Amino acid sequence: MDTHRFDALVIGAGIAGATAAAHLAPTHRLALLEAEEVAGHHTTGRSAAIWILNYGTADARLLTAASRGFFEDPPRGFAETPLAHRRAVLTVADAAQRAALEATLAEGEGLEPLSPEEARALVPALRADYLAAASIERDAFDIDVAALHQGFLRQAKAAGGVLALRHRAGRIWRAGGLWHAETSGGAVFAAPVLVNAAGAWGDEVARLAEVAPLGLQPKRRTALILDPGRWDSADWPLVGDVAHSWYVRPEARRKLMVSPADETDSEPCDAQPDELDIAIAIDRMQQALDIPVHRVEHRWAGLRTFTPDRGLALGPCAAPGFFWCVGQGGYGIQTAPAAGRLLAHLIRGTEPEAELRAAVPLTDPRRFST
Ligand SMILES: Cc1cc2nc3c(=O)[nH]c(=O)nc-3n(C[C@H](O)[C@H](O)[C@H](O)COP(=O)(O)OP(=O)(O)OC[C@H]3O[C@@H](n4cnc5c(N)ncnc54)[C@H](O)[C@@H]3O)c2cc1C
Repeated sequence: MDTHRFDALVIGAGIAGATAAAHLAPTHRLALLEAEEVAGHHTTGRSAAIWILNYGTADARLLTAASRGFFEDPPRGFAETPLAHRRAVLTVADAAQRAALEATLAEGEGLEPLSPEEARALVPALRADYLAAASIERDAFDIDVAALHQGFLRQAKAAGGVLALRHRAGRIWRAGGLWHAETSGGAVFAAPVLVNAAGAWGDEVARLAEVAPLGLQPKRRTALILDPGRWDSADWPLVGDVAHSWYVRPEARRKLMVSPADETDSEPCDAQPDELDIAIAIDRMQQALDIPVHRVEHRWAGLRTFTPDRGLALGPCAAPGFFWCVGQGGYGIQTAPAAGRLLAHLIRGTEPEAELRAAVPLTDPRRFST
């Protein structure tokens, strides 16, 4: 079998792998190996596509903040359309959740309290007998995930990177100072650096390479699309409860995306929605919003993959040349530009910019070594 020699192999062409590839390609001749026929078939193509500062672990918040500038002002020619579209995030609470909302307001950054009347002026479908308190994050935005993902893939290719679709790395070994990956496409790729950006399959790829797994846990999340009937929801904020037990988000063509914010443990797989989770999503949403549901127009599920402490894992491990880029959980899109930049620094051995430095110890994969 022919061996194709590169400076770096990136396994997985979701947003994590695409971003890593785009940042590395200017200095490393690289191959981006993707098992599927299209890049983005798994979690990256199934997200809610929103940027929220007050979300996730400390490292995710740092990387989210450090990614903001990229979304708002991407490099010239990166995408044909804007990546960010302003959309506030409204957090609501019923009477029993009042204290939780107050705690969120006290801890969060840039959150404002809203009276129930103010919240209902923004989202008139909110039930008066449900809503006790609310807060708003005005600075959040929708992300054009397809444009972002394609932009990074284009950048990687423009700098000489090779995207190899239908190339699942099935056997991985290190010999002569090089990582070798034999793929389902019938080729062997070899390079001194291997980046594991395989999402839910991250631990599986590590085991293939005889590298200690991190204890990644993929968790299924469900979403559905429905018609909000008489409501014109186009300009609503994203609305969710403070317990993170449901949220709704306006979609194109006056539709609404609804999620029960589920986190069901799963094996790595092509995740499919479960009817019970769809019913739970509708039930929770209807307790807060007066929206009759006649028909679910579309449904899907995706795997959000977490490390044991729910922070990202970006960087080296004990195995020489093996770099992790996993554990993006529910924030892999909004953290992507900064995460890719940070990983490239760690691979090159250059000093990360000041805004990224605090994330280095928090995202170091070696924190899970025993
Ligand atoms: C319903 C839902 C809502 C979400 N909402 C948001 C949101 O609003 N904002 C946000 O920032 N994030 C959100 N997320 C999370 C976000 O989508 C993920 O964090 C992100 O997409 C993870 O990207 P990834 O590249 O790690 O994984 P993936 O996109 O799954 O990519 C991994 C790739 O690796 C490939 N692969 C695996 N094994 C191999 C192998 N052996 N060889 C070659 N290729 C391999 C797979 O085929 C896959 O394409 C959401 C997720 C879900 C499911």
